[in-house]
Amino acid sequence: MIRSSVQVRLSALDILKRARGYTLPRSTLAPRLFKPVLMLLLSLLLSLVFDQVRVSEGQPRADSARQWYVALDPGHGGKNYGAIDPREEGRYEKQYTLQIANKVSALLKDAQIKVWQSRYKDEPHSLRSRISKASAAGVDLFVSIHINDAYVVGPRGHGTFFLAREAYEESRLRVREFNTEYRGSLFTHSVKQKVKSQQVKEVLLDLIHQRAQHESMHLAHIMNQALELYSPFGTRGVKQGDYGIIKGITTPAIVCEVGFLNHPKEGPFITSKEGMDALSRGIALGILRYLTLRRRADLMIPESLIPPQK
Ligand SMILES: [Zn+2]
Repeated sequence: MIRSSVQVRLSALDILKRARGYTLPRSTLAPRLFKPVLMLLLSLLLSLVFDQVRVSEGQPRADSARQWYVALDPGHGGKNYGAIDPREEGRYEKQYTLQIANKVSALLKDAQIKVWQSRYKDEPHSLRSRISKASAAGVDLFVSIHINDAYVVGPRGHGTFFLAREAYEESRLRVREFNTEYRGSLFTHSVKQKVKSQQVKEVLLDLIHQRAQHESMHLAHIMNQALELYSPFGTRGVKQGDYGIIKGITTPAIVCEVGFLNHPKEGPFITSKEGMDALSRGIALGILRYLTLRRRADLMIPESLIPPQK
């Protein structure tokens, strides 16, 4: 059905009046249009907040003074061991992911990025606490680091994952739940202004969530390309799925599976100092490239992150 622009304009006016406390005569059109029009208006507002506009090289960047804040989540911890290292007794994914995250963190700090880590030692953290605390801290993006393993030895290569569309609704509800739990802190971090209406707040949170999901796709592709420069075992590509660790977050969020721990060649590479150094450079480069390309960050990419010639 096509509605005329006059009707739409009148409805937008009604909405403004309603927001100012006017009582409107009962109409069936206005309530139906309220949410979509509000979402459109707030979406325009959010495009400024999220710095969505792409910039080409050499263009002046607007965010030179901004302090970027990145969340790193070393997968697993405590009794949640993750993949088993078949070559070394007592060594698991949880230890290697922490080592890699520490290295990524050091590289990002060299590039003047502030880093939040979900854990700094071998301790358990529920998925819920990782995501809600990262969101409440007000991070700009969230990267969960994992190492794969296969039931049958053979597969190799890194892959990058972001949330599937089918998981959006659950993720959206989780965002609202976390926001209530943290007394609106997710909201105030995302939009720096006070909004009193509960309905407007919920629409804004939904929009922030939608934007974050869209940006997660970009972050995943940029990250996967950066990792490809540093992993000698090829890429399995970017995929979407229903991943608990990135559900309910209001910032772009991805999972990096840096390779297969039980592959006879890739496993030893991942667990070697050389391999961990290479993979952490790939992850740090992916984050810096994303911030530069998609968020207009004015960052210096350190020389240590210049990719090796293949
Ligand atoms: Zn894992």
